[in-house]
Amino acid sequence: MKSYNFYAGPSIIAPEVLDAFQQAIRQNNSLSMLERSHRGKEITQLFEETKSLVRELMQLTDEYEILFLHGGARLQNVMIPYNIALDKTATYIDTGNWSVKSYQESELIRPTKIWASSAQQNYSLIPDIPEFNEDGYLHFTSNNTVQGTQFHQFPKVKEGILIADMSSDILSRQIDYTQFDMIYAGLQKNLGTAGGTLVVVKKSIIEKAPNLPSMLSYHQHIKANSMLNTPPVAAVLMANLVLKWIIQQGGVSALEMINKRKAKKLYDVIDQSDSFEAYAESSSRSLMNVCFKLKEEDTSSDFHRLLDEKGIIGYKGHRSKGGYRVSLYNMLPESHVDYLVEIMTKFGG
Ligand code: PMP
Repeated sequence: MKSYNFYAGPSIIAPEVLDAFQQAIRQNNSLSMLERSHRGKEITQLFEETKSLVRELMQLTDEYEILFLHGGARLQNVMIPYNIALDKTATYIDTGNWSVKSYQESELIRPTKIWASSAQQNYSLIPDIPEFNEDGYLHFTSNNTVQGTQFHQFPKVKEGILIADMSSDILSRQIDYTQFDMIYAGLQKNLGTAGGTLVVVKKSIIEKAPNLPSMLSYHQHIKANSMLNTPPVAAVLMANLVLKWIIQQGGVSALEMINKRKAKKLYDVIDQSDSFEAYAESSSRSLMNVCFKLKEEDTSSDFHRLLDEKGIIGYKGHRSKGGYRVSLYNMLPESHVDYLVEIMTKFGG
């Protein structure tokens, strides 16, 4: 039976990208990309090309460095407080699980405070954010993968540095990426597969932190062109193919239109049914992760059975939260949403 993958990450990869990946790693009579030295021409070229694709799609200026690092998005939670705006308080916006993890790591490293929070509202919305008028950096999570909320307006920063964790919505919508001083994202959602992290950072905010182990230092990674150690070649190769796929689809603006349509179809069926209830307040809803629950909990085993029977995969909410979460990243086809909507409409009446 066909499976319909709605997992939050690792998540669906377009079949044509998987085909291209397979082809790229199986080169007849030659070495596979996965067998080659990262010091050689092929891998260096792969990294350079992937960086220029990122630069093109995000419309970045030369002020930014682009890195591909190991350690997932979570290592950035450690590297940021060790490297950026040293001697200043580290400041965070608290909008859900991943943002909590970000500031908890920072607290272990240096003085840290919260600028705004929706903890009181059980993270069901993005709170009002006062303009950030301090030195230092303000960190926020643009899309809250667990709660299904998303920033639709970005924090305003008067003096300081703005840093965004875009792990679950990078390149899903046309925005001015140059309003941020730093952006990072694990590659395993909108950029392909796990094993690497994209870091986009303005050169001017990188400090030479004293006595920092080299693997934690942006300065060292930049100097080594993302090759301080053996880099995550497979994940970067996949990201390269995904970025080309985005261009083939008509770019980020074309995907944004489809993403909005996909999310609307799902939120509509949830809002219009007596059986389902969306988790997030409408003004803060995510286009990437749609979180909802059943109004009558005792119908859940019927609903699970139906989804399983129909081949729907990855529909359960995060283990900390329960309920349902369906993820609609760039590579999830609209036809899969239509299929799910039809199932939910029949179930929910
Ligand atoms: N931030 C966000 C918004 C996420 O969704 C995730 C993973 N789901 C992470 C950080 C952690 O990413 P990683 O597993 O790559 O460390």
